[in-house]
Amino acid sequence: MLVRIVIGLAVTAACLGLAGRRFWWLSRLVRSGQPAPERLHRRVEPTVQAEVTEVAGQRKLLEWTVPGLAHFFTMWGFTILLFTIIEAYGDLFQPTFHIPGIGTSPVLGFIEDFFAVAVLVALVVFTVIRIKNAPARRERASRFYGSHTTAAWITLLLIFGVIATLLLYRGAQVDTTPRQFPYDNWAFASHAIGAGLSGLGAGVNGALATTFVILNVCIISGFLVFVSYSKHLHIFLAPFNVGFSRRPRALGALDKTPDMDMENVSEDTVFGAGLIEHFTWKQMLDFATCTECGRCQSVCPAWTTGKPLSPKLVILDLRDNMFASASRLLAQRAAAAGGEGQGAGTDGGATGAAASFEPVPLVPNVIEPDVLWSCTTCGSCVEQCPVDIEHVDTILDMRRYQVLMESSFPSEAGLMLRNVENQGDPWGLGQSKRTEWTQALDFEVPVVTGTIPDDVEYLYWVGCAGALDERARKQVQATARLLHRAGVSFAILGPKESCTGDPARRIGNEYLYQEQAKANIATLDGAGVKKIVATCPHCFNTLKNEYPALGGNYEVVHHAELLDHLVRAGRLTPGTGYQGTVTYHDPCYLGRHNRVFDEPRTVIDAIPGASSVEMRRCRERGFCCGAGGARMWMEESIGTRVNADRTAEAIGTGADVVSTACPYCMIMLDDAVRASGKEDDVRVLDLSQLVEESMGERVPAGADPDGQPMP
Ligand code: SF4
Ligand code: SF4
Repeated sequence: MLVRIVIGLAVTAACLGLAGRRFWWLSRLVRSGQPAPERLHRRVEPTVQAEVTEVAGQRKLLEWTVPGLAHFFTMWGFTILLFTIIEAYGDLFQPTFHIPGIGTSPVLGFIEDFFAVAVLVALVVFTVIRIKNAPARRERASRFYGSHTTAAWITLLLIFGVIATLLLYRGAQVDTTPRQFPYDNWAFASHAIGAGLSGLGAGVNGALATTFVILNVCIISGFLVFVSYSKHLHIFLAPFNVGFSRRPRALGALDKTPDMDMENVSEDTVFGAGLIEHFTWKQMLDFATCTECGRCQSVCPAWTTGKPLSPKLVILDLRDNMFASASRLLAQRAAAAGGEGQGAGTDGGATGAAASFEPVPLVPNVIEPDVLWSCTTCGSCVEQCPVDIEHVDTILDMRRYQVLMESSFPSEAGLMLRNVENQGDPWGLGQSKRTEWTQALDFEVPVVTGTIPDDVEYLYWVGCAGALDERARKQVQATARLLHRAGVSFAILGPKESCTGDPARRIGNEYLYQEQAKANIATLDGAGVKKIVATCPHCFNTLKNEYPALGGNYEVVHHAELLDHLVRAGRLTPGTGYQGTVTYHDPCYLGRHNRVFDEPRTVIDAIPGASSVEMRRCRERGFCCGAGGARMWMEESIGTRVNADRTAEAIGTGADVVSTACPYCMIMLDDAVRASGKEDDVRVLDLSQLVEESMGERVPAGADPDGQPMP
């Protein structure tokens, strides 16, 4: 008796000490990050909802049905099996121990055995998945490529050890005195094992029960230590990371760190993140929480088309650098707290990373420039991440540092920035051309000169592409005609409209973005604008989600939403002018970033002659066109082109129309259709063009019949 108590408690105390030391070290390391006060003062309701749906309900994981179910049962299995851990420790002291009140309930015995078996089944599923997706076999196509696979196998082995010893000690208890096994065959798995062991006799079974209960306690304790030093930290960190992530979603608006207040700049101000210590504690918590599952990597348009960017590897590389920099970060934290050089501490030397006191510039030492500039900010990674890591904000912080502190960015993007700054649009065509698109209309579009007239409902935000690009103009013209036909009153700003600043912000030039935004807000407020309809999802997102932080508050709708409303209200009635099959491409900034998934599909469904077919990657999993994140203005010389990948998928559906609701998507997809030589078979049409065609306005093959290049 005494021996097993000593062994059990000594191993437990040693492991608790090691794990506790590691967790304390981690908590100090994470807290050495920059402040993020908005993460602490939050509304309770969305946080509770996130904990219930994301952590307890495993919502995101269950979207990946088989591995999701396996993870669901493992997570809940270990939660339920906490009862068995209490029983195991009780058994060390008193073999007849049961949890008071519920410990002898057959129902508890059944539930415990059910989850123990469920975890074993889950382990088989995980094993098969890991073998089938082994990086050695599938290389970049494996979502585990770049993950620490050895640690994953050790974890599976330890989980197996916990469950196996649990079932064995319970099975041995069946035929042992003075122990009592109160569950009978309700604990079906333990009982079956007990039946198999019964021939050994009560004495041997008693020794086996003692042996396996000690082993169970030791493996659980060892597992705790292993978890604290491995990717399985997420078991403990995920609820915190989910709880502190931006709500309702970490998409839509970019995060605005306190240092990005351009009104209050000092010589110590650092824009973005150039060293690991420039990240906030929440971003450091992100780095520590990553499970290395690779879901983000497997949906990233950059990674899947052969670029060096993997959102998972970005997080893992930053995590490695954070751990390697821990001594410096902790010393800085101690110094800031008034105890110069005190309390830096270590993690026990078990990270495998050398302590570093020299700051290492993140780009290019930790993150290569090609990695940083490959991101389209599509948000697929954030959408998929089961622990709510916010990759886009982290990538943008590093871009901001490069642009604002180092003046380092792809040269071709420099022209775009200069054009926005000097001419108010990325192509540098100037404000005077912004009303040219209206000349093709057979009605007048009022241009707001003073304040918007009372009888005008919407300010139509045309956007730079819509006003200046030949192909995008056709989309804008079709939308204007439909609004006019439906009796919706609208006006435009014409030459007073200027770039929203979205491409500048997404490339990292927060200064230029804020200059553009403030100027536009002054124009909009000066004109007394209340309601805006936008055709470009990037403008829509910026006006709706990002201008409020700078004082611009408007009711903003996208034209897909407005068309949906008009069709439902009977103010627009699609006709039979279009007969064919449509596949709809979700623009990232309309779909994932703003959850407008149903409205465009409802409009397509309302067209009598249209049958729709979905691409495999649609809605939340929609695949980027390649233009976002200011990628529209950067060369794409590595791997295959993102727009070619997406267009091949669209063409593969057999649809004769690829419909979308974004000028950038339209340009990118149309380019790719032409490059594939399929322009006579497949047309790329905006939703408004499709509706118009159904009402009798045939749009020729190829969105731009003249094949006009971008001016
Ligand atoms: S935002 Fe899109 S392109 Fe950027 S890392 Fe995430 S998935 Fe990849
Ligand atoms: S960042 Fe999220 S999705 Fe990507 S590997 Fe880590 S846990 Fe998985």
